[in-house]
Amino acid sequence: MRSEIIFAGNGLWELRVVFDKIAGVLETQVGYICGQRKKKRKSPIIPDSADRMEVVYIVYDSQKITLQELLKLFFMFHDPTAPNRQGFDKEAQYQSTIYYLKQADKKIISDFIKKIKPFYDKKIIMHVKKAGMFQPVKDYKKHYHRQSHLDKQIEQNKEQFLRHVLSPEQYRVMRKKGTEAPFSGKYIYTDEKGVYRCAACGQKLFKSDSKFQSSCGWPSFDEAYPDSTLIRKDFSHFMIRDEVLCRRCGSHLGHLFNDGTTETAIRYCINSLALKFTKK
Ligand code: FE
Repeated sequence: MRSEIIFAGNGLWELRVVFDKIAGVLETQVGYICGQRKKKRKSPIIPDSADRMEVVYIVYDSQKITLQELLKLFFMFHDPTAPNRQGFDKEAQYQSTIYYLKQADKKIISDFIKKIKPFYDKKIIMHVKKAGMFQPVKDYKKHYHRQSHLDKQIEQNKEQFLRHVLSPEQYRVMRKKGTEAPFSGKYIYTDEKGVYRCAACGQKLFKSDSKFQSSCGWPSFDEAYPDSTLIRKDFSHFMIRDEVLCRRCGSHLGHLFNDGTTETAIRYCINSLALKFTKK
């Protein structure tokens, strides 16, 4: 189903590029928004710079990606504890705000913020408002010179976020490329129907149907969801292996081997700590 949401925060125009790459996101646009106006005006509203916000307008397929997942990414990609100053610009245009278009989304958003709050030691400064008029901007590319600076900042915010939401063991495996001890993971023998998602960002990774029993000591899968993972050569520990990463958030999941015992003959050897199982 086609759904919409609008995010505001510093650097988000550049973050549009990040959201563009997320599976399930159908369209993004950058522009300005001003708060909801109660009085109807005859002429179109041209907001002055003081009350307009730089925003990213996102259209997504709610069957492919949920609002909660998008919120998680929004929090992952910027610092929600920094009031008006994520980096260089200290202006009101950068106040972190989520604009909802459907009333039902308001509760989902406030529930999410409530849930995420305890993970931060600083206060979350995030406004939730009903969307007003959106003005798309066409020449946003002139801002792109800041991209390299932002890449670094996005990375920092992402690490900060993941340090909050992952357990220390999960952080070690997923962000420091660690490995859980063989036969220690909680999903080795799980055979219920459902979906295995990335423990960091929630991306769907493996169907329970693709799980098979192997004697290696880690959950094994013979197939991943299309475009959900990224394979990279890993030269650590004096071996050449294929590392499996989450395509969306870049977290380490495990390794890929060619010794699968099923039809595909491949084996995704994945740390339980990197997975979150949801029962069908
Ligand atoms: Fe992920």
